[in-house]
Amino acid sequence: MPVMIRGALLFLLLILLSSQCFAYELILPREKKSIVNTNYALFMGKANNSESIFINNENVYVAPNGAFAYSVKLKEGENRVVIRSNYNTQIYKFYKNSPVTVHPEEVCEFDTKPAIVIADNAPLRSSPVDYGLNRISHLFKDTTVLINGSKGNFYRVFLSKDKIAWIKKEYVDVNCVSPSEPAQFINMNSKRYKNASVQNISFTKNLPYTVEERDNEIIFRIYNPELSDTTVYTLNIPKPEKYTYFVTLNDGNYTFKVNAAPEKTEDYTVVIDAGHGGSEKGAIGCLGDEEKNVNLRIALELQERLKLMGINVVMTRECDGYISLKDRVKLAKEANANIFVSIHLNSIGDTPFNVHKNKGTSVYYYNPASKGLAEILEKSVSKAAGTRPDGVRTASFAVIRPAEYLGVLVEAAYMINPSDSVLYNSAEFAHNTAVGIADGILEFINK
Ligand SMILES: [Zn+2]
Repeated sequence: MPVMIRGALLFLLLILLSSQCFAYELILPREKKSIVNTNYALFMGKANNSESIFINNENVYVAPNGAFAYSVKLKEGENRVVIRSNYNTQIYKFYKNSPVTVHPEEVCEFDTKPAIVIADNAPLRSSPVDYGLNRISHLFKDTTVLINGSKGNFYRVFLSKDKIAWIKKEYVDVNCVSPSEPAQFINMNSKRYKNASVQNISFTKNLPYTVEERDNEIIFRIYNPELSDTTVYTLNIPKPEKYTYFVTLNDGNYTFKVNAAPEKTEDYTVVIDAGHGGSEKGAIGCLGDEEKNVNLRIALELQERLKLMGINVVMTRECDGYISLKDRVKLAKEANANIFVSIHLNSIGDTPFNVHKNKGTSVYYYNPASKGLAEILEKSVSKAAGTRPDGVRTASFAVIRPAEYLGVLVEAAYMINPSDSVLYNSAEFAHNTAVGIADGILEFINK
């Protein structure tokens, strides 16, 4: 064969090989063979333009930037998934373990005894489960509680004849509690200011409390379960439409303060919280992009806009560094924040991925006080950023839990959604999202 023809053939072969190599690139799954406990396997990656992707013979949607994502339901035992493009076929194998059957634990009953809370901010919960929206209040260190049962990691707390709660065992000391007299009521007073209502109530020792937010008032209850009639002291504090509240306890003296939100823009302090950072990358996108970077771009744009509006701005991070959730909250409390906006992009857990449903902007809140702001932001961000409105939901995220400020967590788009990936990789996405958040905050303040 003449050298020229041989060279041309080799060249053709190289082109063919390289087109096979770059037909598509998978970000997930990472391994060709794996043992899993999940119900779904997510396939996510980037395809060449003009490439069709089939997963188990299903034609998968590929966005204009090549992004695609698809989840496969796994059955117990071996699962074979075939991913195919015009030139390239690969086989992935998942071995799904049988689910471990967990036997529900029984409540272990015992005689009522005192225990002392050994940490501040100890969650008192309505059920013996360590997640979700079951927090009733956060108890202070050195509060005396009565316990009369246990389940798993929790003690059952006796509050009154018709109220029980649960506290994690690690938050209380049951051994070194010497018997003492029941708490005695000392006094109580209330003050009304232009922008705040304050109630003080004093006892001879620290007692447990609960909070309940109603339409027009906040109800604080203090329990004295050691008294034979298990007295409950109820404080009804009226609340304005836009409010925050906080509780302090010092030597048996509770202060409950309900603040009206400021009226003027320049009286607001807003904490901008770019989610994740440093070693904590957050969700990964179809093209391998990292959520922490998108969050930061939005946060920096928002910082500029809010400053222009005359708002006092505090950033939890301005570069790619790690900061704990606790420190983010601490920073906000020290800054006397009125609003805390946490910026994220969404992902999905072990659920089926749907290109039409797992898409767009959603906003999360925890305290009822923050619901109004969350609703405004969901609308204003999706309008400004051109995303699908994906709803307003409650969630127990640490950064939005404190009642001292209005806390919202904006999931601007879905990292794993191919169409959203086109949006958040566009030059104007961070700016537009920031405009949406800033406009929403302004609308909320002027409402
Ligand atoms: Zn996130």
